[in-house]
Amino acid sequence: ALITLEGGEGVGKSTQLRLIVDQLRRAGFEAIATREPGGSPGAEILRQTLLSGVLKPLGSAAEALLFAAARIDHIDVTIEPALAAGVFVVSDRFSDSTRAYQGALGSLDPRFLRALERITLGSLRPDLTLVLDLPAQTGLARAARRRGPEEASDRFEGESLRFHESLRAAFLEIATAEPERCVVIDAGQPEAAVTRAIWDAISLRLLK
Ligand code: C5P
Repeated sequence: ALITLEGGEGVGKSTQLRLIVDQLRRAGFEAIATREPGGSPGAEILRQTLLSGVLKPLGSAAEALLFAAARIDHIDVTIEPALAAGVFVVSDRFSDSTRAYQGALGSLDPRFLRALERITLGSLRPDLTLVLDLPAQTGLARAARRRGPEEASDRFEGESLRFHESLRAAFLEIATAEPERCVVIDAGQPEAAVTRAIWDAISLRLLK
């Protein structure tokens, strides 16, 4: 099964992803952790480029196509073979991040993003998407604390609070529109409680 973790900056996806993969393995399942952008050797090269800032001159449609290119490679090289072998795939971000980030930037036609998603995913859908939800301000404060003073910030950490609030709203909107796929997790709880809530959702929906 494909499980995706989504959410804005500083919601704790990476930490929870590690904990959940460990827990799946302890429960006797084979599981791999992966991430986007990236998750395959080719897509990791695109990740470096996409996150480095060198693509600033690129328009948002062209940039969205590069995220899609990375995703296609990630699916072909990493996700599909693992799913075919019966392995749990847990991804830190996936297609909802494109809907939210590239969508929240506002300049792209929603029809363009939908068409791109159809081309990129084909019939693949996450079996379960966990939306880690946190007020934008709390997430940004956490992301800034996590980072050392010399470390580069995430792509959008410097954006206005309004941008991050619209990002949060976009993720919540996706979860509301697709309740059979998505579960919203309150990421403001203590770490262990977040892990428990995620595990409950996985057990309820995917483990029989
Ligand atoms: O997962 P993490 O928060 O480390 O994401 C890396 C960066 O990539 C973030 O700054 C995020 O905003 C950005 N991103 C993006 N569009 C996507 C996925 C991630 O701009 N579709």
